[in-house]
Order: sequence, then structure tokens, then C-alpha cells
Amino acid sequence: MITAPLKKVAFYTLGCKTNQYDTEAMQEEFKRNGYQIVGFEEISDVYVVNTCTVTNLGDRKSRQMIRRAHRNNPYGIIAVVGCYAQQAAEEVLSIPGVKVAVGTKNRKKIVEYVEMAAATNSSINAVEDIMKVREFEDTPIESFIGKTRGVLKIQEGCNQYCSYCIIPYARGPVRSRKPESVLEEVNRLAAAGFKEIVLTGIHIASYGRDLKNTNLLDLLVKIHLVNGIERVRLGSLEPTLLSDEFIQTVKKLPKVCRHYHISLQSGCDATLKRMHRRYSASEYKKIVENLRNQIPETAVTTDIMVGFPGETEEEFNETYAFVKDIGFSKIHVFSYSPRKGTPAASYDDQAPADVKNTRSKKLIALGHDLEQAFMNRWMNRQVKVLFEEVHPEKDGYYEGYTEQYIRVAVPGDARLEGKLLNVYTEKIEKDCLVGRLI
Ligand code: SF4
Repeated sequence: MITAPLKKVAFYTLGCKTNQYDTEAMQEEFKRNGYQIVGFEEISDVYVVNTCTVTNLGDRKSRQMIRRAHRNNPYGIIAVVGCYAQQAAEEVLSIPGVKVAVGTKNRKKIVEYVEMAAATNSSINAVEDIMKVREFEDTPIESFIGKTRGVLKIQEGCNQYCSYCIIPYARGPVRSRKPESVLEEVNRLAAAGFKEIVLTGIHIASYGRDLKNTNLLDLLVKIHLVNGIERVRLGSLEPTLLSDEFIQTVKKLPKVCRHYHISLQSGCDATLKRMHRRYSASEYKKIVENLRNQIPETAVTTDIMVGFPGETEEEFNETYAFVKDIGFSKIHVFSYSPRKGTPAASYDDQAPADVKNTRSKKLIALGHDLEQAFMNRWMNRQVKVLFEEVHPEKDGYYEGYTEQYIRVAVPGDARLEGKLLNVYTEKIEKDCLVGRLI
């Protein structure tokens, strides 16, 4: 047991961008309380594992990382936070070394819980019934070090209840961060020199539904006025958000990146219906067409799920043809895996693993072709790049992204970091355009 003051804390984060934001906010809480952040593999007094439960694999990986923390220091205090802890607090607390379970609320009090557990040598279960929570837990981030793109959490929870998804149960109902708080953080990011911000959350299309007189569009208009911020990138969106009014308005907001990640999941109406998604393939197509007509050269990226229960060969072929027809600039393909606690897990006709595998490979190959075709369109052209880091494989090259989220590298070094510069593109190397500064 540790009796001396706890001073070192190590973090491991699984899952989505929102979880990464939550981890940063918790790191700040520890720093404010005099802790030093160390690597996860080091011997630390405290280990915080911020977990994910989106798939059964997420649970398994979360447990693996908890066990690894215990191996790294069998005397350390382990705090397990996030979606898996929310769903299975007792299970989490039964893993050796775990002293604190915090779900998707009360992250702000993490230090207090850890110190209480250490002082009393007892376990603390701080997981609350998330379905009753109605307020956004504001955990602003004060210091942003060593990054060019600032991630900003604007919303928590989801009310959609897609039939395969556990997230509404793990994160609870939609809660939006107050616009004033979002704008304060945008201003802090601008003052810290950030040129790009990414708005993230569990279902950002629902932003404002629980507040009076605001929505994502209003928020974008306000953020757009903040000096210093040159790019605003949106996290994953539902197609139905992109009404004509939305598109007409963002069209007049040049800082909003021409890159929309519009969740599709399937291009077949029958599958979409079983998934409880709230749009048809033809509606989706109309929205993308309108977006591209009004805002030319927009990159549209998406997520596709293959092997959903009952997905026939014909249904999959419909999705394949739809993806090709839309011509996404990038797709993220994942195979359906039954998630305990969701309706789809008990549907008949679960697809065999080999079928999922074959379909996934086919779509990934298509995605690769579409990505190359999209990159080809940007060859021998001037593009604007926000530089971020050293090219990992190309000595003497520095890379960044265009507003369409195309990776671009030029000869250069760290002096380019954080600069938004014009580049002339000359060749494609794998998933990166290579060019020169102009
Ligand atoms: S929109 Fe659907 S897939 Fe996305 S978090 Fe909500 S329930 Fe899950």
C-alpha cells in the first residue's frame, strides 16, 4: 500500500477522439494537484486507464491494459474510467489492482477518488446511473502543448439508439456544452497559437438539442468569428444534419474545412432499416450531391459496417455499388461484431466470420482505389497545408494536411510546424502527396 503522497500518474487511452479529450482533461486535473505525468510502461503511483466498450474487443483490450498496469507496478493504484467502467463497474473493480471505477461522469473528481482510495486502502465505485444525467460535465483544457490541431469536446451522449450500438447506454443522453464555454476554449486555443480546431463529441449533430436556442450551425457561426483560428474541422456527422440551410450557411464560412465525415454504415435501405439508421441511401446521396454542388471540392469520408445480421450478398453488393457511386475520398470499414446489450446482438442471421472478412477486404480495396482517385485530383496543383510533424518514413520531409484532410509532405523541418503554407503538389507516394513550398 502507498502511504507517501502520490506523485506520478500514467495514462492509457482506448477508443475515440472524445476519450482522448477526456484523458487530456484528467491529466490537467492531476497536474493541477502536483502530479507528474509519466509513460504507461514506467513505474507509476497511479495508472488511469480510459476505456472503450464500443465492441466486445474494446472491453477485452481495456482489461488487457488494466492488467498491464498492474504488472508495471503491482503496488500502484489503478483507476478505470470511461465507457467500459460505466457498463461494468463491478467487473472492473474485481480486477487486481483496480481501486477506482469512474464512468462517463465525475471524471473531474478523479484525483479526489484516487487519493481517497489510497488513504483508506479501499475501493471506490464512482459510477453513476448515466441515463439520469442531464448536464454536460465541463472539463475545460487550459494548456495545449506540442500540437497543431486542437480537439475540442462540445457534446456528450447520444439519443439515436442504432440497433448495434452500446454507446447511448454507456454515455447517456445528449448533453451539450454551453456555447460560452466552447467559445472560451476556442479563444484559449487561438491564444495558444492553434490554427485548426476539431469539434468532437459522441453525436455532434445533436449539439444544442438540450439547450435553448442553439445548434451546431449557430455554434459554427460564432466560432468562425474568433481571430487566429483558421480552420474548423467537424467530427463525424449524421447525413440528416446537412439540410439545405446548413449547407447554405457553412458555404459562407470559409474557415469550416471542406471535409465532411458523414456516417453511412450501409448503402442498402433494408440494412439501414435493421440498423435503425434514420435515412435512406437515396436521401444520403441527395445530401452529398447538394453539398458538392454548393461547396465544390469537398472531401466526403465515411464509415461502413459490413456483415450486419441478415446482410445478404445482394445487400452487400448494393452497399459496394453505392460507395463506388458516391466516390468517397476515404472510407473506414469495420466488420459488425455483436455487442451484448444491444438489439442487433440477438438478431437471427448473424454473418459468419469468413463472410465478414471477404466483404471487408472487398470494401477496403475499393476504398483504397477511391482514395487514390481523389488524391490524383489534387496532383500538380496549389494546395494549402497546415504543417504538423516530421514525415515518419522520408528523411528531411515535413508533413501536414489540407482542409480536405489530404496528407502532404515537402522538404523541410520543425520550423514549418504550425504554419499554414501553400504547396505545389508533384507526386503521390502511398497515401501522401509530395510537393514543394511555393
Ligand atoms: S448515432 Fe448510432 S452509432 Fe452513433 S453513437 Fe449514436 S447510437 Fe451509436
